[in-house]
Amino acid sequence: MKEKCVFCEKTKNLIKAHIIPKGLHKQLYSSGENSKIRVGASKRRMKRSPSGIWDKHILCSECDNSFSLWEKYGIEFLSSPVDKNKIICGPHGDKIAYSVYNLDCVKLQLFFLSLLWKASITKREEYATVSLGPYENIIKDIFLSENVNELKSFSILFRRAIKSPKIHLFPAFFRWEEINFYHLYLGDFEIRIKVDKQKLPKKFEVFSLKPQLPLVIFLSDFSGSNLEATIKKILQ
Ligand SMILES: [Zn+2]
Repeated sequence: MKEKCVFCEKTKNLIKAHIIPKGLHKQLYSSGENSKIRVGASKRRMKRSPSGIWDKHILCSECDNSFSLWEKYGIEFLSSPVDKNKIICGPHGDKIAYSVYNLDCVKLQLFFLSLLWKASITKREEYATVSLGPYENIIKDIFLSENVNELKSFSILFRRAIKSPKIHLFPAFFRWEEINFYHLYLGDFEIRIKVDKQKLPKKFEVFSLKPQLPLVIFLSDFSGSNLEATIKKILQ
């Protein structure tokens, strides 16, 4: 049955579009307990889902493929190990962060926005927590134009777990410093994406993904945190 593709708006045969790219699942959750990922809003619904979640009512194959270059880049980024030579230590020698140089900031930003956008346009209940409202169209226009100035307003910040099983938690809305964000957990990364007209506070500006500057990724030991408790529950 032909349906309207949300991206090109043409009526055609739609395909099984993965919200989180299939390749990312393969790369990050390929074996053992890591393949047990969260696929529902409650613990009862958690189950193994190695191939991830797809929706066959959103995209045609051409449009889905148009994200593949960004996806390839994003997968490489998320699966690169921490560069031990670029670690930033605190006064007591504790590892605080590390830097990544020479990133293609536009590609990476488009990758994370494409995940969020697909999570918003799907009617799959697992992603009911994501609703971008007017930003759905704004982001769609950015995909078409790759307008760097427009991209700037969606600041993205990263945190990486020092020792934690790789996990996938669905994007969730949260307010941070009175600004609207979505956060998602992919592999051992926590990614915060600002979806708000307000500017990122100056103190965080330096840590957001920016062209021509090294990206600083915070390292976090999630021991004793809510996140660790959630991960344990999921992996039980
Ligand atoms: Zn299309």
